Amino acid sequence: MSIDGPIGSGKSSVAFELARLLGRTCISTGMMYRAVALIVRDGRPYDRASFACEVARVSHFEFTSRPDSLRICVDGTDVTDEVSDPSILPLTSEIAQHPGLRTALLRCQREMALREPSVIEGRDANTQIVPTARWKFYLDAPPEVRYRRLHDVHKLSAISPLEYAEFVRTMELVDERDRGRLRESSRQADVIHHENFAHLSALQDAVILYY
Ligand code: C5P
Repeated sequence: MSIDGPIGSGKSSVAFELARLLGRTCISTGMMYRAVALIVRDGRPYDRASFACEVARVSHFEFTSRPDSLRICVDGTDVTDEVSDPSILPLTSEIAQHPGLRTALLRCQREMALREPSVIEGRDANTQIVPTARWKFYLDAPPEVRYRRLHDVHKLSAISPLEYAEFVRTMELVDERDRGRLRESSRQADVIHHENFAHLSALQDAVILYY
């Protein structure tokens, strides 16, 4: 099963819960891109693109499920909290445009998806990683709802209206960079639009029923 959608659409929460309910492994491709961005940010390399490709090629990514969250380790180090912070998103969407990085992560994600039954979520899930998946979903919500949720989930409430406006502009840039890939993904999946995250659990139930 594959699930895609733009930032803040709830795809990670839905994928995690579905994987738990179905007894499958959850693979978050976005967390892998974010983890590479984190290493690039901290490594401050001269050539970000080549460095990112090399990191993706040689690193070992591993997912584990806790009762309430999906964790990601890179070479044995848990980087879940760092990659969950939205401040890593602009660099992530920048490096994600490099074909070499995409090829390296795609190879790794396909291997993971083939190893055991999984729920895989993220930009390439519907189109590249498991294009033949029987169940493909695309989750969407209006930008202002998605940005507000990201803001609330990550407790950015201390920021001023001006800083919030800056945050929204940054998220719009990320959406803009992701747009082409998302368009293709939504064409190949069942699209679920929602306006309210209070309904996410009903959405999970609906997907389970459908499944
Ligand atoms: O899915 P998530 O919102 O965590 O993804 C973070 C960023 O990583 C996206 O905005 C996108 O730029 C990039 N990404 C990608 N391809 C994927 C998953 C994520 O380009 N398969």
